[in-house]
Amino acid sequence: MSAERATRVGIDIGATKTLGVAVGPGGRVLAEVLATTPTGAEEVVATAGAVVDELRARTGDPLTGTLGVGIPGLVDAGRGAVTHAVNLGVDDEWFPIGDRLARRTGARVVVDNDVNAAALGVAAVTGLRDLVYVSLGTGLAAAAVLDGHLRRGAAGAAGEIGHIPVDPAGRRCQCGQTGCLETEASGSALAEAWPATDVPPAQALFEAAAAGDVKAVQVRDRFAARVADAVRLVTLAVDPAHVVLGGGVAQVGDRLRVAVAHALAEQAAGSPFLRALDLPGRLRTVPTDVPVAALGASLLGSER
Ligand SMILES: [Zn+2]
Repeated sequence: MSAERATRVGIDIGATKTLGVAVGPGGRVLAEVLATTPTGAEEVVATAGAVVDELRARTGDPLTGTLGVGIPGLVDAGRGAVTHAVNLGVDDEWFPIGDRLARRTGARVVVDNDVNAAALGVAAVTGLRDLVYVSLGTGLAAAAVLDGHLRRGAAGAAGEIGHIPVDPAGRRCQCGQTGCLETEASGSALAEAWPATDVPPAQALFEAAAAGDVKAVQVRDRFAARVADAVRLVTLAVDPAHVVLGGGVAQVGDRLRVAVAHALAEQAAGSPFLRALDLPGRLRTVPTDVPVAALGASLLGSER
């Protein structure tokens, strides 16, 4: 069986959930296994190993090919190591998750940042070859697939736009700086501005705003303007053909695109320069019916 025809495995280790997929030839998802992400490096390896065991059981396939892992944090893809990974409990030292998971599963493990993996998944699912993926999750981060190639950066930090300080009088960020963009434009920032318990905060906010709640409209538009700042930033930095909004907040679907496109149009109202770049026209939201991050993780290794 050639490498291209073998079943591949992708695991997206998120802040709260770990999702594994077995992907057959042609990109078809053969099986999905979901688990709760524990805290602690050893626990995360154990959970990912158990997810692989379950995928093997469900597919009846030994899955000895490549195992791709997407994980939040600063990743040295060459070494398969991660640092500044909050749910691994590693902050300063590097944790060799690739080696550890290879020993646990017997597979060839390839590791990358979760947003990089998601960007690859978006490119594969949509067929777009030039895009910046902006993830509005617990934090804010972006990843760039430019001319079909993932841009990781010299230190693996390409796209960490959430930690660009934009407000000197803003809040202290968990990264140690003050007023970072992600303190205003992220799922956490939205949840703080519009708390909800029954449904995801983004859904509650966008529904209340659509129903005409004046306060909700204000909160939504302010949030959309900060996301628009992020879109403007990545567009002016690398000029991608498309900007794809993803992460938990993007589960609200096209309403997010419409709100951010409106904010971008407002920001460009007084600037013929910005208007000429048509930022609203480049915006998309991620497909919500496909596990793009896990699917993208399954492609890691094949794109190197
Ligand atoms: Zn920060």
